[in-house]
Amino acid sequence: MERDTMCIQAGYEPKNGESRMIPIIQSTTFKYDTSEDMGKLFDLEAAGYFYTRLQNPTNDLVAAKICALEGGTAAMLTSSGQAASFFSVFNLAGCGDHVVVSSTIYGGTFNLFNVTMRRMGVDFTFVDPDCSDEELEAAFTPKTKAVFGETIANPALIVFDIERFANAAHAHGVPLIIDNTFATPVNCRPIEWGADIVVHSTTKYLDGHDATVGGCIVDGGKFDWMAHADKFPGLTTPDESYHGITYAERFGLGGAYITKATAQLMRDLGSIQAPMNAYFLNLGIESLAVRMPRHCENAQKVAEFLEGHEKVSWVNYPGLPSNKYYARAKKYMPNGTCGVISFGVKGGRAAAETFMKHLKIGMIATHVADAHTCVLHPASSTHRQLSDEELKAGGVTPDLIRFSCGLESAKDILADLAQALDKV
Ligand SMILES: *Cc1c(COP(=O)(O)O)cnc(C)c1O
Repeated sequence: MERDTMCIQAGYEPKNGESRMIPIIQSTTFKYDTSEDMGKLFDLEAAGYFYTRLQNPTNDLVAAKICALEGGTAAMLTSSGQAASFFSVFNLAGCGDHVVVSSTIYGGTFNLFNVTMRRMGVDFTFVDPDCSDEELEAAFTPKTKAVFGETIANPALIVFDIERFANAAHAHGVPLIIDNTFATPVNCRPIEWGADIVVHSTTKYLDGHDATVGGCIVDGGKFDWMAHADKFPGLTTPDESYHGITYAERFGLGGAYITKATAQLMRDLGSIQAPMNAYFLNLGIESLAVRMPRHCENAQKVAEFLEGHEKVSWVNYPGLPSNKYYARAKKYMPNGTCGVISFGVKGGRAAAETFMKHLKIGMIATHVADAHTCVLHPASSTHRQLSDEELKAGGVTPDLIRFSCGLESAKDILADLAQALDKV
């Protein structure tokens, strides 16, 4: 199936007389005829559902669709993108372990790693995604358990060299985790470039309509845990909390990672997506392949307009030939990158505020990457907890305005920008 078709068809094949849309199984629990039947589920000897804190059939249908889109072997939905990022790393790295991370990742992920997960004893080394080979090499320690990066960094819009980081990770016997939120599997499939695990904030383009917060983790099923058994005892030695099951043995390359994340992390931390939200997410994904080209088309027009405007000091969009990441974007995302642009208005913070105040279609919101055009000044909002140095390391300048092009007519978006810039 082509990805356009998968957006509609993958994950759910209704049988004779069944509902065409995925059923919403709004139930905390599931009934069994005998205790023995249920016992098999608890022992992971049979597949099935017993409690929605761990797994729900509606969620699994939607996860299967995203899994197909990304070309993975197993997937799970989470309650948010943050939960997906956390689980993706914590499923591999615990107290005393270490992870190599691109310094330009999303601010929320940066805090999760640099503050909260450090408190849990996980250590992180943040590297410039364009660092030298020597710097990258030096970031690894014997305790490194994974490498983490973002296809297109939010909001720095730096295009990550997935292949390069995959090679480095694999040379050190660890998997590469990619946050593919901004590109979506319609524009980029990181697993095809060597990534092992893909995470999403489905809150953004996948849902696409400002309707539901959610996340997803997809396993590419290629990383050989047993070949690096000493590094990943959680996958390669018996789990006493599951009657001595060894995930990598029982569920193989394709299933071990997601089964462990479900059986341990979802069981203990319970960050599951509500089935109703999964239904809305599925509705959003059905039009993803139609929406993404429009987002990119609008962003391209806006970026070109801003680049030629006298009141704009700089424009950052990987679709502009003048952009540092143009060639890399063409390699990884030949059909377009995303609908998000960043730029600076001449006159600094005050000018940016005037500009934003006068926008009529572009609305001030912390959100990005959905049907509605929205705008944000990260330094005074989402990223205000970061120091100037941390901002700079994350690729966010104090004058940066993030502009997320929605699905409205480009003509209207451009007119709105023009009149707001006139007020500056
Ligand atoms: C929004 C976002 C997240 C966090 O997702 P939530 O659904 O808000 O928890 C993670 N990564 C990226 C790239 C994001 O844009």
